[in-house]
Amino acid sequence: MNDYQIEINLSSAKKQKPAFDSLEFGKNFTDHMFIMDYTQGRGWHDPRIIPYQPLKLDPSAMVFHYGQSVFEGLKAYLTKDQEVLMFRPYMNMERLNKSNTRLCIPAIDEELAVQALKKLISVDREWVPNVPGTSLYIRPFIISTEPYLGVASSKQFQFIIIMSPVGAYYKEGINPVKIAVQNEYVRAVKGGTGNAKTGGNYASSLKAQEVAEETGYSQVLWLDGKENKYVEEVGSMNIFFKINGEIVTPELNGSILEGVTRNSVIELIKHWNIPLSERRVSIDEIYEAHKRGELEEAFGTGTAAVISPIGEFFWNGEKLCINNGETGQVSKKLYDTLTGIQRGEIDDHF
Ligand code: PMP
Repeated sequence: MNDYQIEINLSSAKKQKPAFDSLEFGKNFTDHMFIMDYTQGRGWHDPRIIPYQPLKLDPSAMVFHYGQSVFEGLKAYLTKDQEVLMFRPYMNMERLNKSNTRLCIPAIDEELAVQALKKLISVDREWVPNVPGTSLYIRPFIISTEPYLGVASSKQFQFIIIMSPVGAYYKEGINPVKIAVQNEYVRAVKGGTGNAKTGGNYASSLKAQEVAEETGYSQVLWLDGKENKYVEEVGSMNIFFKINGEIVTPELNGSILEGVTRNSVIELIKHWNIPLSERRVSIDEIYEAHKRGELEEAFGTGTAAVISPIGEFFWNGEKLCINNGETGQVSKKLYDTLTGIQRGEIDDHF
């Protein structure tokens, strides 16, 4: 493995750390950040760790206008032996490069990116929170920085990693959420950018999220953008159902993001010999399964919540209550196993 030359310029003034028992998501940032530049002809260069600071960008920088940008999200956890563990960082960097390909952004060296993550965490190690359930959220992202208003791919980019200590997603234990099925707005279409992690997907999802919240639902269940029929994702999570003993999840079809947690869930389900199928699943099928009493569980999977059980769907004016609004057995077992692996309490064979 190469030992990459990452220059380190330490901050002379350390920031006051927030109380680790009352952290809000994404509001506090550590003392340092990683940054690397891309210039056409030179490629990616000057990887460095510097004090956390505002960026200086030209107002015409392309990212502000046409949104050529990608990002990732992953977490690092403190184990009971005070070791810091990242969960599947190579998968995130691999996905970042898949997003890069779709957004015409030059690929990064995944090994360098993971080394940068490790170095940055070791520099800001005191920021990894030690209160149960907390973690260090890591946000790698790439922005197009060329000062130019033409609609074209930028010739300059910056790859940046920032980190934020975050609180427990569930303050009072894993808790089912209520979801509104969205049949007006769509998140993504086949051939679009749904399977890339790029800002535009999130900007266009805000409206439906607002509508759901106004009616008392916490997140949106997205249907496919062509027929408004097939289930895609839930909020910013992948979705799974348990129908009559079988776990069913939408197959990756180009408009669904390939979640790192989704991959781990699939591996665990297979390991436990629970029947699993990755296929198209329509909202009508879910409705019918519920009517027959066969919709046993539903849950979302993602870095933020790990497993988010779904207690109710609102669809076509009807409320579909799942498992009496309680966390199902498979959801609970997945949650306990994955959080155990993340905190180094369960051996990671997966
Ligand atoms: N879908 C979308 C749209 C997301 O933003 C996320 C969060 N990254 C996920 C699914 C879940 O992915 P992961 O398990 O890698 O967090």
